[in-house]
Amino acid sequence: MCGIFFYSEKNKKINNSILTTIIKLSEKRGLDNLGICFKNENLEIIKSNIFNEKIYKTKEFNESILKKNNYVFGQCRLVTDGPRFKPEYNQPIVTKKIIGTHNGIILDYLNDNYSENINSVNDTRSFYDEINNLNFNNIAELEKFINTKKGIINIIFYNRQNNQTYFYSNNGSLYFYVDDNRIIASSEMYFLEELKKKFNLTGIINKIEIKKLLRFDNQKFIITKSDIKNLNETIKLINHIGNNEDKIKELKRCSRCILPETYPLIKFDEYGLCNYCKTYTKQKFLGDDQLQNKIGDKNTKILFGLSGGRDSCYGLYYLYEVLGYKNIITYTYDWGLTTDTARRNISHFCQKYGIENIIRAPNIYKKRKYIRQNLLAWLKKPHLGMVPLFFIGDKPFLYYGSDLKKKTKSDITIHGTGFQCEQMEFKVAYCGIQQQLKNNNSMSSFNLFNKFRLLFWYFLQYTKNLSYFNSSFIDSAIGFYSSFFHKDTAIPLYNYVKFDSKNIDSKLDQLGFLSDKKYGLNQWRVGDGWTALTNFIYYQIGGFSEFDSYRSNQIREDILTRDEAIKLATLDNKPRLESISNFCNLIGVNTEEVLLRILSIKKRY
Ligand SMILES: [Zn+2]
Repeated sequence: MCGIFFYSEKNKKINNSILTTIIKLSEKRGLDNLGICFKNENLEIIKSNIFNEKIYKTKEFNESILKKNNYVFGQCRLVTDGPRFKPEYNQPIVTKKIIGTHNGIILDYLNDNYSENINSVNDTRSFYDEINNLNFNNIAELEKFINTKKGIINIIFYNRQNNQTYFYSNNGSLYFYVDDNRIIASSEMYFLEELKKKFNLTGIINKIEIKKLLRFDNQKFIITKSDIKNLNETIKLINHIGNNEDKIKELKRCSRCILPETYPLIKFDEYGLCNYCKTYTKQKFLGDDQLQNKIGDKNTKILFGLSGGRDSCYGLYYLYEVLGYKNIITYTYDWGLTTDTARRNISHFCQKYGIENIIRAPNIYKKRKYIRQNLLAWLKKPHLGMVPLFFIGDKPFLYYGSDLKKKTKSDITIHGTGFQCEQMEFKVAYCGIQQQLKNNNSMSSFNLFNKFRLLFWYFLQYTKNLSYFNSSFIDSAIGFYSSFFHKDTAIPLYNYVKFDSKNIDSKLDQLGFLSDKKYGLNQWRVGDGWTALTNFIYYQIGGFSEFDSYRSNQIREDILTRDEAIKLATLDNKPRLESISNFCNLIGVNTEEVLLRILSIKKRY
């Protein structure tokens, strides 16, 4: 359960050590989340979670406590229903009219069988939403309404319409300490007794009268039952939890593309144009003729990398149906993060064309363990340049392109890669390296100097965070080798074939391609179970994600207008909680803990 509290000093400032002691005592009842509301001439609300700095050590707390506060109230939360990282579920709950805390579980609002589900609703939120939407003319009516609710309800809430703070309990878990100078409320009598001892207080402690709605009368300095009417004020909400969409929207962006000022190594000229736009050259697709020259006649035996995502499924269709190459074998490197949807697409297309699919799978248990180890290592000392490391385990995909070519006696390997819009400079720019990309070529084509700088940068990060030296080390080293030095002779299909996403989408629909609803409208990246998490990380900490990079390239290719790109990127960047949760389950980490830790990392904006 949770601990709620209230504290007021008569004609005096709030005493910092008394308030801090109340919070520390209340934490015994739950320390998942903490929230506090200071009532001075405004309302100042601070929310924080278990991984943030302690709330009473934050700058905002120490500023607010110096002001002339009439009172403060708050809650230490033990999460029961509704995930911790959703700010709207963390207390104090803030609605248009109400700022509210609650201890207990209100049974009327619980529909989920499993309350810690990532999408479960929060009872307190629903309760205050209902109070907010109903119009109560007096205390008696509101009290009657609350009395109809089932389950334990102990609440302290502020009504912004009449500037009043209310108390209520239906089981008696709310106590008041009262003397001439102060009133303190708490969930346990024991906490108030401890306060009395520590600060030599001589007042009395009373249990709240149950099932009665009470009010704090500031003038008379008493807790009372009578009604009063009053005015409004402004509200300032400082949120250390949750999405930062509003702040991200405010970032300065390039006048042509949508890259923000937080993009690594970005520079704007006097017209607000970014250096990435200035050096960009549009992709020239080499065309079918050149591709067919390169592949050879229709009997050429082709090894095709099929991941089950959009790019590779369309590529297979194009080779088979449009260009008429029927002698194709596909291969898939299933390293434990391939999504169900991707697997079903592989199955569908191979059956449709009567084509063989070779699967290479490593020890998936180990691969997942490696990702877990590196993710947890990263969280200890997070740097955005190290994010690609989590997934370096998929790089042997490239190696199998060469290996299986020999073993299947194929003439040529083709991958559904090479579309320039998909290239992402920021992944190495975060490591301080400006590498100009073209035709979305693989890392092995970087200039040698940059390759060594990058390797050295990674090496430094390893020495700065020794947790990276875990059992994944050899696997990561193989990944580095595969990406940097393995000579990849496979043909990137989309250097030749024009990648037109609108046509591709409608064609794939006709062909029976399964899209992943969990992944949202943008089906790019649908084959990757992990990108929902990495994009969450990039977006929350860096203020932009892979999607902003992709959309910006689409603008530069004249596929989208800037306005369209902004609209689409806003949708793209909505967190895909279900995908993230599935991924976390796969690798064996607690979704909420990971999300909360990510949200506690210092932002680049
Ligand atoms: Zn730009």
